[in-house]
Amino acid sequence: MTGCAFCKIVNKEVPADVVYEDDKIIAFRDINPKAPLHLLIVPKRHIPSINHLELQDKELTGELFLIAQKIARDQGVSKTGYKLVFNVGRGGGQLINHLHLHLLAGWETSGEKDILGMP
Ligand code: AMP
Ligand code: ZN
Repeated sequence: MTGCAFCKIVNKEVPADVVYEDDKIIAFRDINPKAPLHLLIVPKRHIPSINHLELQDKELTGELFLIAQKIARDQGVSKTGYKLVFNVGRGGGQLINHLHLHLLAGWETSGEKDILGMP
């Protein structure tokens, strides 16, 4: 969508530190990280928010989570753990009107690993 910051990244009009890309999804580092590792996992198609998802998007939304799982593994945080967050609307802290899943990780832990038996 014209004027959308994340569409510009998808279309390579604006640079980003891309960590993953396929035909439907791109993931890149947040420019203003709120955690030691802060990535944004973004569908390439312009969907404004979770509120705008339709039944036909259910495969894509599932893929966002599976890609998050893969990226967490690739970035070495799957065992220590991470947060996945969708902000929805201004009241939910959403500033960019292009659907994105925040992956936040990398804080110090007390050395506990795999406490949930995570793969
Ligand atoms: P939200 O508040 O959920 O809409 O999150 C938007 C996020 O996008 C914020 O954490 C911003 O720091 C981040 N952001 C904004 N512009 C860019 C950009 N050009 N490249 C990477 N991250 C960005
Ligand atoms: Zn967009």
